Amino acid sequence: MKTFDVYPLFNIEPVKAEGIALWDKEGNKYLDLYGGHAVISIGHTHPHYIKKIKEQLDKIGFYSNSVIISAQNELAEKLGKLSGYEDYFLFLCNSGAEANENALKLASFHTNRKKVIAFTNGFHGRTSLAVAATDGPSMQAPVNKTDNIILLPFNDEAALEKAFSEEIGSVIIEGMQGVGGVRIPIASFLQKIRILCDKFGAVMILDEVQSGYGRSGKFFAHQHANIRPDMITVAKGMGNGFPIAGVLIHPKFKAVHGMLGTTFGGNHVACAAGIAVLDVIKDENLLENSTKVGQYLSDSLKKIAGVKEVRGFGLMIGVELEIPCADIRNALLKEHRIFTGSSSDKNTIRILPALNIKKEDAEVFLNAFKSVMSKTLVK
Ligand code: PLP
Repeated sequence: MKTFDVYPLFNIEPVKAEGIALWDKEGNKYLDLYGGHAVISIGHTHPHYIKKIKEQLDKIGFYSNSVIISAQNELAEKLGKLSGYEDYFLFLCNSGAEANENALKLASFHTNRKKVIAFTNGFHGRTSLAVAATDGPSMQAPVNKTDNIILLPFNDEAALEKAFSEEIGSVIIEGMQGVGGVRIPIASFLQKIRILCDKFGAVMILDEVQSGYGRSGKFFAHQHANIRPDMITVAKGMGNGFPIAGVLIHPKFKAVHGMLGTTFGGNHVACAAGIAVLDVIKDENLLENSTKVGQYLSDSLKKIAGVKEVRGFGLMIGVELEIPCADIRNALLKEHRIFTGSSSDKNTIRILPALNIKKEDAEVFLNAFKSVMSKTLVK
């Protein structure tokens, strides 16, 4: 059997990783400014993370959600404290798409309504409702098409106001659009969603799958706009590579046995990984580092010739070039062994390093980027 060929691959096989570095089979070292789609939050193979997972595996690796798994409570408590959502409840699952699927479903159970507002350029995952709420027709199979999703222009308050009614059950929006090229929802736009959801009895869902867990310098990106959504979805950085995701749920939602569920979600090892990540974010002050190094990177990137715009908060940075970025990313990888990320905007590079990246590593990237840009612009 062969694997189903849905991913374009770099011809590189990392076999070892530590912190912000990766090594291939030949022993070549790479700098990871992308964390495998924004997943690596506390750095590859962090010692505390490895210790926690190993200790858990030695005790019990898995049992289903039909028994007490007290690590889930420890995770929920630590997440509540660190994020400022201590009064919310946590539903654990396995991926970002699954978290959004469950949030949209729970909103519909709660309101008994079907219509969902989502936004242009947004990405929420590949499962049925999540992909329907995603602005990517090529990802939607005929079975995913539904008239329950109302796609509105991003950051357009007038269009939002016009579309709202008692029919709307929920609004889903990313804390910062990631795949769409790092685009920030303006604070007044998020505040307007909050006001309209309250006015019409709809549920506000913040997809923080990519922008959450300290990436923006605050625990959640929407905290830059001073709003509190009804549900928040998390994944990616939550497990630093171990599959774990969750929905943070306002206390007004009533839990009914059987309304949501999963076999693997919240298993012992996933919780150990999730707890280790929260410990490290707290103990190493990673929100502060994300703000500090993120600011340094953004300020420096803005000064480089050929850069049109730098967007984002903290260590979620979109660098829009005056030219398409594919050749620049290839040169960074081949000539300087630096991983960066693409986006759905062909001119925008995504920079999403581990939250404990050091200024020295940021400098190595900046020098390489400057050199590649100047060579390309001269051509
Ligand atoms: N939501 C956002 C904002 C994402 O960036 C992603 C993945 O890139 C998802 C949801 C889907 O997450 P997953 O691939 O874990 O299903």
